[in-house]
Amino acid sequence: MAQEHPKRLVEWFHLLRGQIPVARQRFRDWLAAVREEPVLIWHTTAVRYAAYGLGAAVLLWGATRVAGTLAPPATARPQAKTADFHVVCTGLDCRHHFVIHRKFGYRKFPVDCPKCQNKTGAQARRCNSATCRGRWVPLERQDGKLYCPVCGAGSE
Ligand SMILES: [Zn+2]
Ligand SMILES: [Zn+2]
Repeated sequence: MAQEHPKRLVEWFHLLRGQIPVARQRFRDWLAAVREEPVLIWHTTAVRYAAYGLGAAVLLWGATRVAGTLAPPATARPQAKTADFHVVCTGLDCRHHFVIHRKFGYRKFPVDCPKCQNKTGAQARRCNSATCRGRWVPLERQDGKLYCPVCGAGSE
């Protein structure tokens, strides 16, 4: 069984090779006929279908190009319009730290604290002083500079 396969391949090869001169002769005849009468080229089915195929491909390409300009790619649409804001409650007994998701550039602080229910949630930042060591503290300014109300450290 295993030996039949290559043998058949060789047979096909010989068969194909035998067809080449015939095909070449046919092509030469066709070329000569077309030279005599160029309209014949359109009467050749293979040429006609190739032209149709090419036309369809160009149309399809054009359609996708138009569709592409009408609707921008999906990846370009979702822009970061919202952001996470860290909040610390300034209530002396609460000091709850939480995160809210709001529109980019949100400024309406203070917000409601979910723990003590008071409107004492102030926008937070991390204080990196030796005392706070990255603690979330209310964002406060003094003389235009950031000032930490917990440890009293100022920073640029
Ligand atoms: Zn609170
Ligand atoms: Zn601090």
